[in-house]
Amino acid sequence: MHRPPRVRFAPAPTGRLHLGGARTALVNALFARARGGTLVLRIEDTDPERNLPGADEAIEEDLLWLGIVPDEGPTEGGAFGPYRQSERGPVYGGAFEALRAAGRLYPCWCGPEARAESGCPGGCGGLAEGERERRLAREPAVPAWRFRLGEQREVADLLRGRVSFRGAPAPDPVVLRPGGRPTFLFACAVDDAEMKITHVIRGEDHLPNAWKQEQIQRALGREPPQWLHLPLVLGPDGAPLSKRHGSTAIGDLRDRGVPWEAVVMALAHLGWTPPRVEPGRDPWPELAARFRPERLSRSQPVYDEGRLLHLSGRWLRALPPEELARRSAELAGFRDRFGGSVPPWWGELLAVCVLSRATLGEAAALAWEILEAEPRRADGGGEILDAWLRHWPESGLPGAEDFKRLSARVAEEAGAAGRALFHPLRLALTGREAGPALAVLAPLLDRAAQDPPRGRRVRSCRERIAAALGAR
Ligand code: GLU
Repeated sequence: MHRPPRVRFAPAPTGRLHLGGARTALVNALFARARGGTLVLRIEDTDPERNLPGADEAIEEDLLWLGIVPDEGPTEGGAFGPYRQSERGPVYGGAFEALRAAGRLYPCWCGPEARAESGCPGGCGGLAEGERERRLAREPAVPAWRFRLGEQREVADLLRGRVSFRGAPAPDPVVLRPGGRPTFLFACAVDDAEMKITHVIRGEDHLPNAWKQEQIQRALGREPPQWLHLPLVLGPDGAPLSKRHGSTAIGDLRDRGVPWEAVVMALAHLGWTPPRVEPGRDPWPELAARFRPERLSRSQPVYDEGRLLHLSGRWLRALPPEELARRSAELAGFRDRFGGSVPPWWGELLAVCVLSRATLGEAAALAWEILEAEPRRADGGGEILDAWLRHWPESGLPGAEDFKRLSARVAEEAGAAGRALFHPLRLALTGREAGPALAVLAPLLDRAAQDPPRGRRVRSCRERIAAALGAR
């Protein structure tokens, strides 16, 4: 019988969302979308010392930015809440009592830190029942409760098949810490069972927990989920992905003006060969339609910021000017520059600047630099600038065609062409040696001068040329 899957993304709110976590979230979201399932967001905040205030909201904001929309979660609600582990104390209490009644738990006075091969050097697990009861009566403050593992030492993973842990030391895992705080291993196993998670898709660093969590779930009378552990992402040098491989926080990429679609595509390339998606399109429908978990690679994927930036540039060049303008207003430094109403020329200016830049942040910086540029005068460029100025319409240049007619006239009169004709103009208009095509740029500058950002003055082309002529 086909049952729509229930998957979950379960971040600890200890910091921002990074590429590795986002990739796990992406695979979960694709898995759910591809099969009409449900994506649960669960916040694993059982470790108060490591939690960062506000981190859960920030993580969710980054997920939403990527188009990963949980169906259930702390803000969405749902039938299996609460979705923050810190609010699920009674659920863990109930599971604890059930396991204890089933004879699977024992108090360990050695504490949770005793991680020797035996797990419990004092042999707490081997006490006879009567002895244990007597010691409990004597010393009721139990530093740790452990779960008595059964014989099973392996787990079936959708990507790797059966994985055995027979050789590895296997201390009985702690389920409750001092003060009755549940451990991650226990809370996560209980929640996956309680929330009816059918497939646990997570990083392979959690693979060694799976067979233990499975036993806890079976002891609770629940069918364990299917497991899919994703190989961890590496940088191009083969080391685990870290800051030195570029921006790894999703929020940093957003602040730099990398389009979310490019981030999604770059994440999809990690261990999968996604379909080609036409830049400018929402990638989710095509990715979800083609996603097959069995096609995921078992080797560790390599993240390359160069690929991301390449995708970023391609996506930016496919976005319409008004969308570029809208997104630029979300960039850290550009939020308030237009005071709410963004003039139409700004998007068009961005559209020419993204031709030579990989992120919207860089394109917007270039556009702004050009708006505010100090006109420069090329050596020996006085005569040609003078000709440009004489022919430049008082009311400004309306469009690219007008620029072409104008340059034909100036070329004829001055008998100049190519670099001799355009280089002095470029230096005068932009203060730069190279940049966007003047035919597009010059009319945009004239429009910007007529409709400047609030509280600013933008010089028209005539003013720029005159200033360059005056400059020494
Ligand atoms: N909270 C765990 C982490 O952030 C994830 C555990 C899991 O997915 O089972 O690494």
